[in-house]
Amino acid sequence: MHLSQAQLNPVYKKMSDINDLRNKMDAVTLEMINLLKTRTNIAREIGEVKKNIGKSISDEEREDNLRGKILQLSKEIGLDETLASKFLNFLLNESIRVQSENKQTHLSIFLKAKSLEQKGEKIIHMEVGEPDFSPPEIVKKSLSEVFDKGFMKYGQAKGMPIFREELAKYVSKKFNVEITHENIIVSPGARFSIFSAISTLLNPGDEMIVIEPAWPAYKDCALNAGIKVRTISTTLEEKWEPSIEQIKNTINPNTKMIVLNYPNNPTGKILPEKLQDSIIQLAKENNLYVLSDEIYSQYAKINWKSILSYNYEKSIVTQSFSKSHAMTGFRVGYGIASKQIIEKMAKLESLCLTNVSEPIQYVAMKALDADTSNNSKIVQKRLDMLSSKAKEMGLEFIIPDGAMYIFAKINQEGFDGVEFANNSLERGIAVAPGEGFGNYKGFIRISACQDEKTLMEGMHILGNIMSEKQ
Ligand code: PMP
Repeated sequence: MHLSQAQLNPVYKKMSDINDLRNKMDAVTLEMINLLKTRTNIAREIGEVKKNIGKSISDEEREDNLRGKILQLSKEIGLDETLASKFLNFLLNESIRVQSENKQTHLSIFLKAKSLEQKGEKIIHMEVGEPDFSPPEIVKKSLSEVFDKGFMKYGQAKGMPIFREELAKYVSKKFNVEITHENIIVSPGARFSIFSAISTLLNPGDEMIVIEPAWPAYKDCALNAGIKVRTISTTLEEKWEPSIEQIKNTINPNTKMIVLNYPNNPTGKILPEKLQDSIIQLAKENNLYVLSDEIYSQYAKINWKSILSYNYEKSIVTQSFSKSHAMTGFRVGYGIASKQIIEKMAKLESLCLTNVSEPIQYVAMKALDADTSNNSKIVQKRLDMLSSKAKEMGLEFIIPDGAMYIFAKINQEGFDGVEFANNSLERGIAVAPGEGFGNYKGFIRISACQDEKTLMEGMHILGNIMSEKQ
């Protein structure tokens, strides 16, 4: 009788079994890659069609439909539903990624405007959120003294201890809360705190809720980290207010964070206090992180309450010197959260950039002493003026409760904000297309970041372009 190697040696048999299984697994994986390629091609084709007919990239209803089918199938075949849902989230994000390749936002218009200026064209910038006024005078003085003060070495990722102490005092006083330096991380702009909060607190396949219209970076940070965004689209008719029902219906076991941004970019909205209270309550009940981007708090015109005042241990508030102190180019902002969250964010910051430049931290620390109330007055006056002019021109919008913008609907058949913004560049004005902030093709955002005379000139040109189109 002839016995095979496997029969003679049980260990050999096990090894050959593993090899068979591994080969099968490899074949399945390769097949999945082929299918992924097919799926990506289809997504790209859908993207082209959507662009042609002016349809938005995300379609929550269709996604939910597919999610339902996948959960049903998972049940039938005995696959873990959370795993299936995470895998679906990965696939959905890939579709969004390929379809977003040519997305136009206020930044792409800004860059086009800049290159036209380099060629000698004159452009009125009403697209970008960058205050035209100078940083406080004390910034100039502290820039000249920083060398002698010796702030110029490597430092802690979280920021210079002395600056964090000062920020803690400043925040505690300004927002009537108790914050210590352990709750603060200094970052290069609020943008990086937003990026690090999303990237470190959430995992691929987790879900994050964004209320649109919204500054596009929240979604982009999530997409970059493999996190699925669930969008809640608010409307002008509903005064840009999400309903608690809408938010409730969006939460599922994978939901880990909700992003808030009030005063809002682009609408200028501040939520009624009761609605904000209910959102925080809902977040607490569902153990969600609340990422509250409050960089326009300096420009709140009506009563506004910081998320810090809820004392919720899973909240992260982002702040910046960019808008309040007109220090966009200094790239300095900060995050405020529990010590544990700050530690996590600091790890990523340390990995990416060691720390924010010490001279810049010193200058920002000094800027905390400046009285910036005049900046708020200037922006408010401009917004009032822009609002009355926009009304006169027949634009539809809500009077901003704060921030630096008007988000207006253009009442023209088939109006396309992207096309309009691109064409307007040729006429010497730059505005931000609504599409950069969500599914708002018929809207444009107008910034109050120029002096009144320039803004008026810009509105005049805008009016001319609009009346020619009718
Ligand atoms: N959040 C919002 C809502 C913004 O509009 C911006 C900039 N336009 C930022 C964050 C980024 O600010 P920073 O310059 O501090 O990175």
